[in-house]
Amino acid sequence: MTKLPPAPSKLAFVPFVSVENMMRIVNTIGAAKMIAEMAEYIEADFVRWDKFDKTPRVAAHSHEGVIELMPTSDGETYGFKYVNGHPANMARGFQTVTAFGVLARVDNGYPILLSEMTVLTALRTAATSAVAAKHLAPKNARTMAMIGNGAQCEFQALAMREIVGVETVRLFDIDATATEKAVRNLANTGLKVVACTSAEEAMTGAEIITTCTADKQYATILTDNMVGSGVHINAIGGDCPGKTELHKDILLRSSIFVEYPPQTRIEGEIQQLDADHPVTELWQVITGKTKGRTSSDQITLFDSVGFATEDFSALRYVHDQLESTGHFDELDMIADPDDPRDLFGMVQRAKV
Ligand code: NAD
Repeated sequence: MTKLPPAPSKLAFVPFVSVENMMRIVNTIGAAKMIAEMAEYIEADFVRWDKFDKTPRVAAHSHEGVIELMPTSDGETYGFKYVNGHPANMARGFQTVTAFGVLARVDNGYPILLSEMTVLTALRTAATSAVAAKHLAPKNARTMAMIGNGAQCEFQALAMREIVGVETVRLFDIDATATEKAVRNLANTGLKVVACTSAEEAMTGAEIITTCTADKQYATILTDNMVGSGVHINAIGGDCPGKTELHKDILLRSSIFVEYPPQTRIEGEIQQLDADHPVTELWQVITGKTKGRTSSDQITLFDSVGFATEDFSALRYVHDQLESTGHFDELDMIADPDDPRDLFGMVQRAKV
């Protein structure tokens, strides 16, 4: 599926996409178009779900947050993402989430791409949300509530506009400056943007409710009485053991859709439920194996935690943009002695 680069002998340098170059790629292609194109890669990889090696991500938890590795392979290409989640970072002037990732050839193990993934994660998370909403939200959903107006917020709104046809976004954050920032950034996007002073107000008339807050605890961003029938909930912020956003009673009324159950049962909203509580895997809906929304009063919940295949798809997409955009550096990352066994000699010869 991935277009592999030239033969390994010609690959002494690895393409590296820095944050600066990622921003150039986004601004060359356009954020909304890039999210929509990436969504096609994500959807295509969900369709070939059985081709991927899958494992829950490997997490190192601390009091302050978590550092995670997210590996996967389709047998031809291997990928992983390094990502952190530190809810207290924002107050200290740091990003809550930062990331970088690698793609490598499976046939010789050589890396073919090293990329920043902080911006890319926001794009891929938004694209995944919109793919899920496309399959699960009420038809003709035009209004979304966006609760939590931090780093992911505008990407989420753009994705829902571009892929689902959302026209109005109703914003709420406990920090009014975050909402003001999002209002500013979403001006001139064609979206009608409404700043709200409570989650309840933001949810008024919304067919899609996205929660994207950051707190390393069992938070209750939505209580059961706030959620009417027929809506689609896109719960993004609960993505760690002990870190959830929805009251358990909402889960008990919802049809729950997840990326990869072994990971979501540890990290998602469903960590609050019994281990055998029924959930549907998103790939089954995308392939038509299982129905998504089956009635207009059903509450559909995408319990998003972010899965390795989505990062793989995002990296694959970026890799495919390198030639046309030229926005990358060449990184001297692979030792390349003339005789592969003469690594020591190569070091010796490099002496000045
Ligand atoms: P961020 O720190 O930039 O923004 C979080 C926002 O939530 C802040 O503006 C904060 O004021 C607000 N907030 C906190 N508690 C709130 C509450 N009770 N009501 C309303 N707003 C509240 O973080 P971010 O990068 O936007 O990420 C948000 C969350 O999404 C994080 O928990 C992150 O781990 C998660 N995330 C999930 C995925 C995924 O694939 N599911 C991907 C990326 C990030």
